[in-house]
This record gives sequence, C-alpha cells and structure tokens, in this order.
Amino acid sequence: MKVITALTGHTDPRRYGEPVLLVVHHTGSFSLASALQELGRRKLSYHYVIEQDGLVWKLAPVAEAARHAGVCERADGRIRPVNQRSIGVAWVGGVTESWRPTTWQMGALQELAAELRRGTPSLRYVAGHKDLTRRKVDPRSVDVEELARITGLEAWRRETA
Ligand SMILES: [Zn+2]
Repeated sequence: MKVITALTGHTDPRRYGEPVLLVVHHTGSFSLASALQELGRRKLSYHYVIEQDGLVWKLAPVAEAARHAGVCERADGRIRPVNQRSIGVAWVGGVTESWRPTTWQMGALQELAAELRRGTPSLRYVAGHKDLTRRKVDPRSVDVEELARITGLEAWRRETA
C-alpha cells in the first residue's frame, strides 16, 4: 500500500484516550485537490483519504484527533462528540447518488484498516459517517455491515456505548 503524507494540521490533541472507532466518509468531491481545498477552507481534516486508484494520502497523525466528524446521536438520545476517540478515513467521490467506491478504494481501505488495527489495538468499531448522524449520507451505497466485513472491525450501532 502506497501512502503519501501531506498533513493538514487541522487536528487537536487526544484528551480522552486511544481511538476506538473508525469512521468512513466520502469526500463529496470529484478529486483529491478539491477535497483538500474544501478541508482547508473549513479547517477540517480526515486522517486518511483514498483516491479512486487506491492511492492513500495521510493527512493527520493517528495520535492526534482530526476534525472529520462532529457528533453522533446515540440510541438513548445523547449526543456525543466523535473526533476525540475516532480515526477518520474518506474515499474521494460520492458526488452522485449512484456512486460506489472503486474496487481499488475498497482494497485500499481493507489494507489500511488492517494496518491501523495492528498499530492501534484499541480500535474496535467501524461506522459510516451516516450511521453516526441523520444529517449525513456518506459514504453512499456502503452500509455498516459491509464496512465491518472490509475492515475486520465490529459494526458500530446507535446502541453502542
Ligand atoms: Zn463525512
């Protein structure tokens, strides 16, 4: 797996311990360049972005909390912040409703997740951004069960503590 590092700097220190949740997004853009432009404008960042050909860009160190998701809505109605205890990965794409990640993007997530699980043993769950909040639709066409199969992590549920 080829990884190119280009840190955005849009992170905060991790204050509440090691990451337990992997959150998968789509960027909502056709290209990496426009995704980076949007992240820069909004002072946001994923930890990793995966291009259509499977090339992986590292935008933030896992040891820091990247600003990739806001809050999750739990089954008991409680709202919890997500970034502190999570790692964020985004596939480039998702602009059209019929969008699916490419085979290469799927493969790269599989490899990246295996590497993250080795490097971060606290990682236990995976969720799509849309599973955390009704305000989001990303990643399109991929549900949490499929994410769990790809990443080898447990599917996060709104009931999950
Ligand atoms: Zn998202």
